[in-house]
Amino acid sequence: MTSLFPHKKAKALKPNSRRPAKELCSECGLCDTYYIHYVKEACAFITQQIDTLEEQAHQRSRNLDNPDELYFGVHQDMIAARKQQPIAGAQWTGIVSSIAIEMLNRGLVEGVVCVQNSKEDRFQPMPVIARTPEEILAARVNKPTLSPNLSVLEQVEKSGMKRLLVIGVGCQIQALRAVEKKLGLEKLYVLGTPCVDNVTRAGLQKFLETTSRSPETVVHYEFMQDFRIHFKHEDGSIEKVPFFGLKTNQLKDVFAPSCMSCFDYVNSLADLVVGYMGAPFGWQWIVVRNDTGKEMLDLVQDQLDTQPVMSQGNRQEAVQQGIPAYDKGVTLPMWVAKMMGVVIDKIGPKGLEYARFSIDSHFTRNYLFVKRNHPEKLAAHVPEFAKRIVGQYKLP
Ligand code: FAD
Ligand code: SF4
Ligand code: SF4
Repeated sequence: MTSLFPHKKAKALKPNSRRPAKELCSECGLCDTYYIHYVKEACAFITQQIDTLEEQAHQRSRNLDNPDELYFGVHQDMIAARKQQPIAGAQWTGIVSSIAIEMLNRGLVEGVVCVQNSKEDRFQPMPVIARTPEEILAARVNKPTLSPNLSVLEQVEKSGMKRLLVIGVGCQIQALRAVEKKLGLEKLYVLGTPCVDNVTRAGLQKFLETTSRSPETVVHYEFMQDFRIHFKHEDGSIEKVPFFGLKTNQLKDVFAPSCMSCFDYVNSLADLVVGYMGAPFGWQWIVVRNDTGKEMLDLVQDQLDTQPVMSQGNRQEAVQQGIPAYDKGVTLPMWVAKMMGVVIDKIGPKGLEYARFSIDSHFTRNYLFVKRNHPEKLAAHVPEFAKRIVGQYKLP
């Protein structure tokens, strides 16, 4: 008789050994567990199957002829929201942590996969299965580095847990969905965030050192809708550096090759996605993909201010003009960059149009990266929705 759990005979890879996806590995954590048995089908960088997994998770794949679904994936609702009482120290207002806490408190789940940081280093990711609100709160704020969130999956099965919430970014959630049925769970909830331009811990250090005036005091940072990077420092001060002033020539190789080949910016397979880029400044952007996602959002409705999503401006020319800059690694002098930032801020894309601006800019750059570095993978690795988005632009 064949075993129902053949993966239990597989062996996790040792830390630092080469991963099956080689240089494209995003360190999602799957290969740190015996679920490596399924890596060929599960790894987002070996088998791209977003449309099949969309059908599994949401009962249908996205409608490519619906412009909002083309960009933002399968969804039944999108809103802008913020917590009436933000969680101190969260990345934004803490909607992600609040949903996870409610789910645990109300007994919907027995544990939450999330990522804290190590004691020695605030940016070193340490994935955990949180079982108390305090442990969830300790995972608040982005760890802006590749994070092996799925490395705790073996512990889930061993603990006998049947109801689980996983918080994660697109590449982690793709692998998770591919092995979902093997986890022995009664119910899996998936709370995602968008994700782009991630880096290794060493890459993060280089980025901070070339971009911030005080790298050692940065608590968190975000690429904002005003076309500046906002670094928050330990003393509470905010440092703003225009995107156009980034030292892109020095930073050209800073982003991980996985993230330069990633087309799941909007976390297509999560039940609910919480980001910021489709919302006005200071608000969070929420995409409800299915009924499970709605159930999760409903738990915190009474803690939120909400407003409908909006869209303003026209991104296309700015994207087209940005393509050669990304491509050649050009850095504008800082004063021109500041001026462009102000102009774009006044007349530039806002709300959903800003989200499209960011998706278009990253997809065109990533398409060129895959074409140049892994031409044999281009056809199968780039999902159809991304091919259509990239197809709107003239590429070098
Ligand atoms: P919090 O309540 O602070 O909770 C954050 C949660 O994120 C925690 O539960 C933690 O477990 C989880 N987490 C932290 N770091 C990681 C990681 N490396 N991998 C997996 N899970 C992690 N949103 C956009 O709209 N546009 C973007 O371009 C964008 N880029 C992002 C890039 C990265 C690398 C990450 C991690 C997130 C990005 N986001 C982006 C999402 C956004 O920054 C916020 O994380 C999101 O809006 C939730 O904010 P919050 O205050 O509700 O989260
Ligand atoms: Fe394994 Fe994940 Fe790396 Fe793919 S991305 S090789 S599944 S650890
Ligand atoms: Fe994973 Fe893509 Fe984020 Fe990189 S950009 S960590 S590949 S979801």
